Amino acid sequence: MTKDEIKKYKEILGVEKEKLDKEIEEHEKLVDMGGDIDGGDEESDEAEEMGNQLGISHAFRTRKEEIEGALLRIQNGTYGKCVKCGGEISKEVLEIVPESELCAKCKKLG
Ligand SMILES: [Zn+2]
Repeated sequence: MTKDEIKKYKEILGVEKEKLDKEIEEHEKLVDMGGDIDGGDEESDEAEEMGNQLGISHAFRTRKEEIEGALLRIQNGTYGKCVKCGGEISKEVLEIVPESELCAKCKKLG
């Protein structure tokens, strides 16, 4: 991978991370507010809704961790290499999932 390519992915990842930071912040505000509402008859719905919100929040956080991991690999000079087999991750994969840490083969194997 060339320096220009790494720079490009670093920029993409930086933008994605910023977006996620904002979404996580917004989301946690929503969850906080949800906790203040007095449930009454809708208590079970509220609980379910809270569960959904927390699930989304968790998904955001997981993605953020993956992006942070990818940014760390850029720093270490190992970005674009599969963490499992050490092979190159194809550009087709990185174009779709720039934070990917596995090559297509390892991903398939799980
Ligand atoms: Zn691999």
